[in-house]
Amino acid sequence: MAGPKDRRSTPRNLKVTGRGSALIRNPSLNKGTGFPLDERRTFGLEGLLPVRAKNQSQQAERIYQQVRSAPDDLQKYVMLNALLNRNVHLYYRVLADHLEELMPIVYTPTVGAAVQRFSQVFQGGGGIWITPDMKGRMQDVLWSIVGSREIRLLVVTDNESILGIGDQGAGGMAISQGKLALYTAAAGIDPAKAIPVSLDFGTDNEQLLADDQYLGWPSRRLRGPEYLALVDEFVAAVRTAMPDALVQWEDFRKDNALTILDRYSSVLPSFNDDIQGTGAVVMAGLNSALTIKGERLAAQRIVIFGAGAAGLGVARQIKAQLVDEDVVGSRQANVIAVLDRSGLLVHDGRPMDEYKRALAWPAELAAELGLADPTRRSLLDVVRKYRPTVLIGLSGVARSFNEEIVREMARHVDRPVIFPSSNPSSISEATPADLYAWTDCRCLVATGSPFPQVERGGRVYRVGQGNNVFIFPGLGLAAIAANATRITDSMTKVASEALAKQVTNEEREAGLLFPAVSRLRSVSFEIAVAVAHQAIQDGVATAAHDDVERLVREARWSHDYQHYVPA
Ligand code: NAD
Repeated sequence: MAGPKDRRSTPRNLKVTGRGSALIRNPSLNKGTGFPLDERRTFGLEGLLPVRAKNQSQQAERIYQQVRSAPDDLQKYVMLNALLNRNVHLYYRVLADHLEELMPIVYTPTVGAAVQRFSQVFQGGGGIWITPDMKGRMQDVLWSIVGSREIRLLVVTDNESILGIGDQGAGGMAISQGKLALYTAAAGIDPAKAIPVSLDFGTDNEQLLADDQYLGWPSRRLRGPEYLALVDEFVAAVRTAMPDALVQWEDFRKDNALTILDRYSSVLPSFNDDIQGTGAVVMAGLNSALTIKGERLAAQRIVIFGAGAAGLGVARQIKAQLVDEDVVGSRQANVIAVLDRSGLLVHDGRPMDEYKRALAWPAELAAELGLADPTRRSLLDVVRKYRPTVLIGLSGVARSFNEEIVREMARHVDRPVIFPSSNPSSISEATPADLYAWTDCRCLVATGSPFPQVERGGRVYRVGQGNNVFIFPGLGLAAIAANATRITDSMTKVASEALAKQVTNEEREAGLLFPAVSRLRSVSFEIAVAVAHQAIQDGVATAAHDDVERLVREARWSHDYQHYVPA
């Protein structure tokens, strides 16, 4: 529930120029049946709406009932999207009233289906589409879309590595839209100041290329210098047309994700959610589990299954904390083992991507543990020999934490920490129900997508959602409120620490390693305050900051209707 800190200072009156049906057709201003009678008279709306005015709460309840009666989740998604295209305030009111229930609709897992069926369910609206034919003209294109509008946030994807479902072409726009919906629902980012962007430089998805209905750039993906030149031009155009915008890079393939993060992180305030957001959120869950176990990070043996953008982000975050615990150099290798498609990463002369080198074990360590044979380094082999205390799944391989693996792990650990983090739920590495069954309820679990609670032995275990949604809204709000020129590593680290601190004893006792999603708003606010403080400490905040809490509070938008007066 909204506490005293949640109260916002919205101006009572808003000067409005539009009238009549033009006002009703403007989703940022439309109140639908929520226009009070005096405003209907003032703005020429009489006769355009059913006569009885309703307040926002009544409208939200009606919409919620409609959404509930939709035949499936994708229809619910489509219905909510239609509401967003008609009445922005009401959309966010409905989300705020039922955040825990509707988050799986506007975000993972349903958004995954929406991405895959994007061209079929497209209803207009959305964001900015950048295509290769805009080469040399991107600045003009952005100027003409944005004009004098103040833009503070862009969620930018090139659609290639969407959730765990790969190259989705133009459909990736739905992910950027979903993320922005959560920025607003969770942290109160003004939706008028945020735009989703699709860098639609083609797709290698054969199905989409063969589909007549496909709405995206109907060619193979641009790669290499040609691709990078377009991203360079886009970034330069953003800096000119939207100089105050924070950029969240979203769902790029890992090589591009890393290149882009490194290339632009000192050029504009930006972060990669898959790398840094995932690192921060998983680290928070891990710290939460360690609090329960009463153990230090340095005492763990952690397996990260999946060496993509997310696995790399988590490994980096763990290593940063190990440095804080004075575990440096080769001693870190004892704490983390990373596996990719070909098994445990080991320096044994085989060719390996540059970024994986930093994650690979020395060959001597592998030999010492009986993992010298490159053909015998599967997850099961590693679990047998290395005996992990923590198992983190970021592979996109459904049910890969099978019974044999989990039982083997649980033989050696009193409280195994297991995070099947891949999204959507259909490709989660394990279900919580199985994990509790196979470990006699000794496991500490968090998943990437929402899962129902587990009932066993007369106890109910709730399942915490280890999802970036606990990080990016608060991080973004802090960056916007503080007008940060960069997103520093310590800002993401502080976001992770602040999140772990938000888990209450009651939640831990119920099995949650993350706060309940119903508390997302207040949690995001606390994270934002902590991160804004860090931005100031790091010297990247440019907003005046006498009272940081107030600075953050006042940066938030409210879904409440304002009273309209003629301009
Ligand atoms: P990615 O494609 O960059 O990486 C996938 C990795 O998994 C690659 O290293 C690949 O080698 C490895 N892999 C694939 N098959 C494997 C197998 N059979 N055995 C071992 N490793 C295998 O993808 P990503 O962006 O890193 O995302 C991975 C997953 O993590 C996705 O499902 C994504 O939804 C999920 N994710 C979850 C969160 C969250 O908040 N919970 C955040 C980011 C990503």
